[in-house]
Order: sequence, then structure tokens, then C-alpha cells
Amino acid sequence: MPELRQNPFTKEWVIIATERAKRPEELRVKRGDKHELPRYSPSCPFCPGNEHLAPPELSRLAYEPGKWSVRVIPNKFAALSFEGEPTRKIERSRRTLNGVGIHEVIVETPDHDLNLAQLGDHQVTDVMRVYRERYRSACEDPRVVHVTLFKNHGVGAGTSLEHPHSQLIATPVISHQVRERMYESLRHYDEYGECIFCEAIKEELIDGARIVLATDHFVALESYASPTPFSTHIYPRRHLACFGDVTDDELTDLGYTLRTLLAKLYLGLDDPDYNFTIRSAPKESRNAPYYHWYLSVIPRLTRVAGFELGSGMFINVVLPEKAAEFLRNVKIENGALSRLTPANIPSV
Ligand SMILES: [Zn+2]
Ligand SMILES: [Zn+2]
Repeated sequence: MPELRQNPFTKEWVIIATERAKRPEELRVKRGDKHELPRYSPSCPFCPGNEHLAPPELSRLAYEPGKWSVRVIPNKFAALSFEGEPTRKIERSRRTLNGVGIHEVIVETPDHDLNLAQLGDHQVTDVMRVYRERYRSACEDPRVVHVTLFKNHGVGAGTSLEHPHSQLIATPVISHQVRERMYESLRHYDEYGECIFCEAIKEELIDGARIVLATDHFVALESYASPTPFSTHIYPRRHLACFGDVTDDELTDLGYTLRTLLAKLYLGLDDPDYNFTIRSAPKESRNAPYYHWYLSVIPRLTRVAGFELGSGMFINVVLPEKAAEFLRNVKIENGALSRLTPANIPSV
């Protein structure tokens, strides 16, 4: 019989459709549109040598003069304008706010043809370090109340440029979804006097069935009421509401954990399109004892259809326990991933 599961953090219900359940490997992407990318593209604004095609740089991480590893630029087609004040207007039911904020692009590597799964752990750590620097910098802007870091990988995940990059958007308002998450965790804290995330992580570690990977500082797991197949969360073990407060040691571990997870998805599901996002507390709740930041990786393996849109309830065709077991069994050998092509992906 299918099972309904409730997400303890959002109270949303999910249908785990065991009747139409798929084996994880059935979701391996079969794409005819995959083509090999060049290492450098003359028209790409993110490739080294083409810096003039992009807006002026905001920040860079470089080990040698004149050679960058990670580079940050304003988004040329920004969703929010950097100039102006977030003036609010209310006319009866109509509320508006000037669209001011920050929209940046983080170019993750000089190589046009690589993706995060193929970089070394230290390179992913470098990207995380730049995330932290940009996160902190955005928080210093008094107009900003919430900062979202995210990555879109592949056309199915909404990316328009091939060159590996992620983005930061800092907004002058807190979204309804973020508010709800904060309220739910605050309600739990009021009732039980504990962080719901800290407790869930402890429980999951004892249970073990949904754990993909556990390191000194992080735990990667399939959530109990995962709305889509292979939706994986990476939680810091230490209670911390704000991503901007991670330590250097934690960043190193996060680089390893994220890279390993992405490599497992890359090898196990044949480089699926995915989004990931860092869910950090709004600026005003930076030290909240009830909220816990995490990184959420969402492979785009199935499509959202009418039922999801109409009911707000998802149907997941892969048991989270099976997804976790599948990912645990994908072995990552160090260096084995560099410049892999689908032909030499080992079978799992
Ligand atoms: Zn490029
Ligand atoms: Zn916590």
C-alpha cells in the first residue's frame, strides 16, 4: 500500500507511491542531448580571457597572480537592482516594494567543461569559501534581510549558461516559504525546548536507513518525507542557524561532503540535472536556537505535474531508504571522476 509521510519541518504531506515505485537505477537519465563541452569557449563570458564580456569583477580567489580559481561578478541580467531603496507602497490590497537587492554569479572554475562533481574536494571547498564571503558581504547591506545561495545544473534545472556557476540573491523581504519554515521550527522549540533539526539528525544517525554519508561535521541524508526522488539534505552536526557563521574546518568538510554526494549522483544517475540551495536563517534570526541551516540538493529526475500543482502534495516514486542505500553503494575513488565521459562511467 502507498504511504503518506509528513515532513516534520514544514508539515507538508508526501505520497510515497510504493505501488508505482521505481528502482533508483530506473531513473538514470537517458539523454540524447548530451554533448561534449569544450574546455574553453570563445563566446563564454565566464571563461578566462573573456572577462571583458562580463560586468566588472566583485571578488576572486586566486593562488597565482593573474590566474583565478573562483570569480564573482554581478549578474548581467539581475533579478533585483543594486541601486535604490526598498521603499514600500500599500494601496488597499496592493503591496509593492522597489525591486532592490543583490544578484551575483559565482564562477566555480576556469574550466568550461567541468562540473562540481569533477572538481577536487579542495576546489569545492574554495567555492564554499567564496559562498561564505559573499554571504557575509551581502548581509552587511542594510537593505538585505535574507540571502539565498543556489546552483542550477543542466537545462532541466533552469540553467542558461554551460560554464559551471552558482548564484546569490539577497532580497529586501523574507518569503512566505522561509517564514513558514521559521514558524514551524519556532513552534517546535516552544513546545519541546530543542531545535527540531538537531533532534532529527540524532534520530536519523541512530536509525541509519536514510544516511548517505556522515563526516566529522556534516550528515548527508535522504529526508524521511522526501518530496522528490534523491532529494538530499546536508546538515551541519553543530547547531547553527546562519551559513555565514561556518568555521574554516567546517568549510573543508562541507567541500568534501558536497563533492562526494554530487559525485555519487553523477556516477549513479549519469550526471542528472539538479538544483542545490543553502537554506540559511534570515538575517534577523541569525542566532536563533530553533533554526538550523542546511544545504538541499534536488536532482530533477521527475516532472512536477497537475496533482502537485493542484494539491501542493508531491508523489515520490522512490523510497527515501532505497535512494540512500543506492547512493551509499556508489563508490567514489579519489580522482576517478576527472573528465569522465558517459562511456567510461563504471557500472554500479
Ligand atoms: Zn566558459
Ligand atoms: Zn539545530
